[in-house]
Order: sequence, then structure tokens, then C-alpha cells
Amino acid sequence: MGFLSIEGLTASYGGKTDVLSGVTLSVPRGAVVGLIGPSGSGKSTVLRTLVGLLKPRAGKVTVGGQAVDYGDRASLRAARDRFAIVFQQYNLFQNMTALRNVTVAPTLVKKRPAEEVEAEGRALLARVGLASKVDSYPDELSGGQQQRVAIARALALKPEILLLDEVTAALDPELVGEVLDTIRSLQSDGMTMLIVSHEMAFIREVASTVVFMDQGRVVEVGPPSQILDAPKSDRLRDFTARILRH
Ligand code: ADP
Ligand code: MG
Repeated sequence: MGFLSIEGLTASYGGKTDVLSGVTLSVPRGAVVGLIGPSGSGKSTVLRTLVGLLKPRAGKVTVGGQAVDYGDRASLRAARDRFAIVFQQYNLFQNMTALRNVTVAPTLVKKRPAEEVEAEGRALLARVGLASKVDSYPDELSGGQQQRVAIARALALKPEILLLDEVTAALDPELVGEVLDTIRSLQSDGMTMLIVSHEMAFIREVASTVVFMDQGRVVEVGPPSQILDAPKSDRLRDFTARILRH
């Protein structure tokens, strides 16, 4: 069983149709799993369900062997502390410096000592290559820099598993590389990550396992070479043909 284990996860947005139908996947500690699939296949919903933004209708999630009970507030809070999620839209607080964006939740929500959190925040910004930007406001930063602040902000909560939802999709092409470099360095530090991305070359490079989803289901799982180069199902073959063509 993986460090993160998802079994039969089923969820809907209130309507009759399930947007996730029995999603099962396993992420070993320190592994990077790439989640790919067409738009609307349920990739974001998997991540949102894991962090409790959407309550699953059925299924079992365990982290480090501990089951998460999404109906129980204490269990949900404990699970939320183990995940952090970064979205395509970085949504930094515009009226706060990069450092303040990183430190605000640990100090105000977690009530941790300001000095300690600030030292950690500076170290985290250095880790994402932004040591010189601690006092900059979001509107003084490029999109790639803002996304790296958002990653540092997520890391400030000391997650065990980092969920990345198309974090480079809103960036100009020349800014994608610096964000991918940051993710690479997290991987070499042993961060467990579940990454939704359309950057297939990057997924091929960093992911140990690739999960292909379609219509709320996991259709194929395997190493990148198998999933991207030797798809078994027609749906995956169509998808890779479309995405690798451009
Ligand atoms: P992906 O990230 O793979 O593009 P999503 O997880 O965002 O897919 O969406 C899966 C399905 O759930 C889609 O059919 C989408 O229209 C639907 N969906 C997503 N968000 C909502 C929402 N807030 N309310 C209702 N339906 C939603
Ligand atoms: Mg999505």
C-alpha cells in the first residue's frame, strides 16, 4: 500500500452523475505521480476531494496508514494538515509582500511564533530561487515568480504530500521552466507529489508513475514510458496522439 492510498473514490458535485467513479491509485512516500487526461476527466476533482473541498460519496483514502474520515471534522483537519495544494491561479494576497504571503497562514492560522516562521519563510523563498524578492509585492513579480511564491506558501504549512494542479498552465512559455525547476528540486528533496499537468515531457521526466483518467475513471496506470509511448486503450492512444502532436 502506498503512503497515500486512494481506493474506490467516488464523488459528485451534488448532481446525479458521479464526476469520480471508483478512482483507485497509490503513491509511495517520496514518489511523484503524474495525473493526465482530457479536460473534464476529473483530475482537479481528485485533488479537491483529497483535501476535503468536496466530500466523497464513497471510497477510502489513507495517508501513512491512517484512514481519513471526510465526515469527521477532526479527521478532516488532520488530513488537511498533511496535504497542500497549489492551483493554476496562484492567488497571492496582493497587499502583502512575498514573505508575508508565505508567513501569514503559519502565524495567523497555525499560531506559530512569528520569528521562527519568518526565518522559515525566508529559507523557503530562497529554496524556490526568490531570496532577493522577499520584500516584493505580487505586482512586482512575474507570473513564474508569483507561482514560486505560491509553492513556498504551500510548503510553509509543512505538508507531507504536495498536490499541484496545472501550476504552469497560466504562465507564458518562457516562465514555465523556472517553475518546473522548482518542482524538480522538491522531487530530489524527496517530496511526495501528485502532479496534474499537460507538460508531457516534464511528466515523463519526473513521474515514476503516470495515471491516465477519462470520464472520472482511472483508465491506465504505469511508468511514463508505457503510458506515453505504448498506450493500451484506445482512449489513451487518442489522448497521447492529440497532445503529443502539438
Ligand atoms: P479536469 O481537472 O480533469 O479538467 P475536473 O475535475 O475539473 O476535470 O471536472 C470533472 C467534471 O466535474 C467535469 O465534468 C466538470 O464539468 C465537473 N465539475 C467541475 N467542477 C464543478 C463544480 N464546481 N460544479 C459542478 N460540476 C463541476
Ligand atoms: Mg483541472
